[in-house]
Amino acid sequence: MSTRAGRRLARPGHSRWYGRRVPTEDAPRYGPPDALRSPRYAGVKTFARCPLVESPEDVDVAVLGIPFDTATTNRPGARFGPEAIRSASIVLRPYNPVQDALVFGELSVADLGDLSVTPGNAEKTVGQIAEQLEPIVRSGARTLCLGGDHLVVLGELRAYAAVHGPLGLVLLDAHADVWDVYVGERYYHGSPFRRALEEGLLDPSRSLLAGMRGSLYGPGDAAMPTDLGFEVITCEELVALTPEAYGARVRARVGDGPLFLSFDIDVLDPAFAPGTGTPEAGGLQTREALGFVRALRGLAFSGYDVVEVSPPYDGPGQPTAVAAANIAFELLTLDVLARGDSG
Ligand code: MN
Ligand code: MN
Repeated sequence: MSTRAGRRLARPGHSRWYGRRVPTEDAPRYGPPDALRSPRYAGVKTFARCPLVESPEDVDVAVLGIPFDTATTNRPGARFGPEAIRSASIVLRPYNPVQDALVFGELSVADLGDLSVTPGNAEKTVGQIAEQLEPIVRSGARTLCLGGDHLVVLGELRAYAAVHGPLGLVLLDAHADVWDVYVGERYYHGSPFRRALEEGLLDPSRSLLAGMRGSLYGPGDAAMPTDLGFEVITCEELVALTPEAYGARVRARVGDGPLFLSFDIDVLDPAFAPGTGTPEAGGLQTREALGFVRALRGLAFSGYDVVEVSPPYDGPGQPTAVAAANIAFELLTLDVLARGDSG
């Protein structure tokens, strides 16, 4: 996290594209420009109109795109997810009224662009992701990665575990993503959390997976994540919980220690998020998902992602990308609330 002293080194007017921030003593170095000076749709599309920078210096949360989708098994297109989420995110304002958090007033948030990936080579891409993220994680910044199909999380977890040790996982997803092999492939978007367990990146006893639903290959499949040591709240159970009850379940499970939050957009119903790789009927409304994420306030996550947004399958008005951008805003809000306003 950047220090107040670091923030005083702020160079207002860092980019002609992004306008100037109000140069007060206490302002974080990076954040969106003042929309009362330049409209929110103007400029090159970065996440929430935050500046595009190369270094995580003085960055509290680095937003990165991971434009990779050749580990999907059904609909492709998530390689364009980062671009769509960035475009939808321009409508974000600095303040979260539900959580009473001035997100972009407290956090220094920058867009660090897209990671390099290798289309068609999932295993190599996971290694590339880990290699590129680890120095950012070591810098002390948290990362918020925009997928990309869900295999990208394996690279993220490698980077985080290398710095912090095994992580607890809070997953919101229609799928547990703990399958083993699919048409001969071990690295695909249905297997990242099994691979992560095998590599010792996750502590399943501190992990809670929620939102699972949909048809399976056989009667034993539903028990697969719990057999591996994870706790599961199916979608049917989740919708019967209040957000507060869900938050209490998570807190009771994760205890103390490093945590990662992964949000697969397919936890939403396809009516609300059609633009995704593996849609499952009977999911959450966008409003419900926002409520469940907000209920995690107070938990300090080391890293976050929002994955599986596939713009070619999105609907008019891009509801999937809009939902993803707003979920990302709620994740940034959690980061503010977990760390107070000390900067
Ligand atoms: Mn997933
Ligand atoms: Mn999923």
